[in-house]
Amino acid sequence: MKPRLLVVEDEAHLASGLKLNFTLEGYDVTVAPTLRDAGLRLMDPLGFQVILLDVMLPDGDGVAFCRTLRDAGNFTPVLMLTAKSSPDERVRGLEAGADDYLPKPFELAELIARVKSMLRRAQWTSPSDAPLAAEVLTFGATTVDFAAMTAHRDGAPVTVTRLELDLLRYFARNAGRVVSRSELLEHVWEVSATSHTRTVDNFVLRLRKHFEPDPHTPRHFLSVRGAGYKFVP
Ligand code: CA
Repeated sequence: MKPRLLVVEDEAHLASGLKLNFTLEGYDVTVAPTLRDAGLRLMDPLGFQVILLDVMLPDGDGVAFCRTLRDAGNFTPVLMLTAKSSPDERVRGLEAGADDYLPKPFELAELIARVKSMLRRAQWTSPSDAPLAAEVLTFGATTVDFAAMTAHRDGAPVTVTRLELDLLRYFARNAGRVVSRSELLEHVWEVSATSHTRTVDNFVLRLRKHFEPDPHTPRHFLSVRGAGYKFVP
């Protein structure tokens, strides 16, 4: 079955370009020009594999919409298309539960690669993925169950996205070793290692915020100057 893609975008020209190109890539594409329309489309029991979500829409804010989805228990992977490329805007999107973001204007090839990568990750982390079924990671006061896609710190649940879990899993498998930003981009994001290293930094900040007793003086997710990061369980 074709992967179903929901494009929430009010710029008609951009929306139709995305629809055409993703259709050519083999996706079943639905366009929603407003959040209201997106909400109605999401009631379709078939669901969607990926949502491309613009931030500024005529009837509201894509970031708030994403948070509402997550609060309602909908964890469809969301890629935010942010017009503003300020770090604040990106962090706000990621904190609302988006899995990835791409600032406008973007390269179409880059967007297609990101969406493919999100689909692959979604398949890995599906409950039927047997090889990962028994993986539970414990460090400090944190317990992460990769199969159940849940995390707890001091016994309290922490809301984590798929991408955060994938990054954490890669760190866990390489515990005690310095891993570079480009290695993380290649293995976790599966994108070319030549750019977007700030993406890695933003996600490491998120893991620190979730799991470090004091995010400003990390004990588990260490920066190694000039080299990358090191996870110490
Ligand atoms: Ca817009």
